[in-house]
Amino acid sequence: MTAFNPFVLVNSRVVQMPIATRYEEGDIWVPVKFFMPILRRALGSVQPTNGDIQPGAGVNLFGVSVEEKANGTLIRVSTGGRFKASSLSTRFSKRWLYLDILGGKLQQNSFVKSISSSEVREVVPVQLQEMVQLSFHLKRSVAEKNIQLSQQQNEIWISIPSKKVVSADVIRKLQEEQKKWRIDKIVIDPGHGGRDPGTSGPRGVHEKDVVLAISKKLKKIIERNMNVKVLMTREKDEYIALEDRTRFANKNEGKLFISIHANWNRNAAVDGATTYFLGLARSDESLEISQRENAVIKYDDRPSSFGQMNDEKIILATMAQNSYNKESQDFAGMIQKHVSSRTKLRNRGVKQAGFYVMVGASMPNVLIETAFMSNKREEKLLKSSSFQEKVARGIFDSIKSFKRKYESTMY
Ligand SMILES: [Zn+2]
Repeated sequence: MTAFNPFVLVNSRVVQMPIATRYEEGDIWVPVKFFMPILRRALGSVQPTNGDIQPGAGVNLFGVSVEEKANGTLIRVSTGGRFKASSLSTRFSKRWLYLDILGGKLQQNSFVKSISSSEVREVVPVQLQEMVQLSFHLKRSVAEKNIQLSQQQNEIWISIPSKKVVSADVIRKLQEEQKKWRIDKIVIDPGHGGRDPGTSGPRGVHEKDVVLAISKKLKKIIERNMNVKVLMTREKDEYIALEDRTRFANKNEGKLFISIHANWNRNAAVDGATTYFLGLARSDESLEISQRENAVIKYDDRPSSFGQMNDEKIILATMAQNSYNKESQDFAGMIQKHVSSRTKLRNRGVKQAGFYVMVGASMPNVLIETAFMSNKREEKLLKSSSFQEKVARGIFDSIKSFKRKYESTMY
């Protein structure tokens, strides 16, 4: 029977009564005089008690309640017995969870008993032709794999586990673990120094002086704006062997290693900034630059442990820091973006090459070739304090982005 309808469906046959049913306050009222013969035919002998009949013959779903439990939400649908497993299904659409019950018949009156849950906002029961659909409006999206549907003797249960409940112990351990990974110490490596001047421009500006100035500015900016310790491989004009720079960073457990340089090209027109991470050079240009930077080991007064750098050694070194390689590449991209935006330098992109100074670093590490000493205009820029400040600002911006990205994904 449906409300305001003279047609009654009896065992899939439609029977018409002379007058329609009525509907008041959730109850369907039937005209007993016309309804009784239909009921007798369908069910055999039926005796009305006190002249009325309980409406809702065939109802097998009596109510739903949503309860908050210690570890999640439990939805309970009380039933007239067990349904076949194949008659029950759940599905999601946006923030709605649907329970479809094939062959279900709703008790129309106050079906929703109670909702006390931090997960479920409301429940909407709908009687469809051959099934009942219960729709649960959720307060957050829940992954389908997390919910569980089960049947008890006279109940259907759906459990929605709450967001992971983690004990204080586990949280403390995680926080300790997180501390280990927190980028709380940065090693800045100003290239060259002492008897190794690095590259020199047409006006005689030395790379070693410019990169030290940029590094000092960067250190100051970081210390002023972040709760991060900054170490420098050199603070003055002195010679430091390449391998000692990496060793220094490792020994001090740096979380980020930034080697700062200035570029050189025989073509004086070439300009712009490039940032490198460790890998096999993929272009002649990258190979040439890394060979030039690596050549400074000739200033060493003791035999270098690097020997001749070949492809195999670079691949092995890259594999050794595999876990940092993605971060290094990512960080290099951030540096390129921020430095070129601060300085308006041409963005020559992120490249990879086998720089000795990056070999063996056990932390994300990059080498930035800020601008070209061989380019008259850029040599002048490199010498100016305001340009050095802009480069330092750009690197600082990228450290901020890097910290934000990697510290937030550590849980
Ligand atoms: Zn250099």
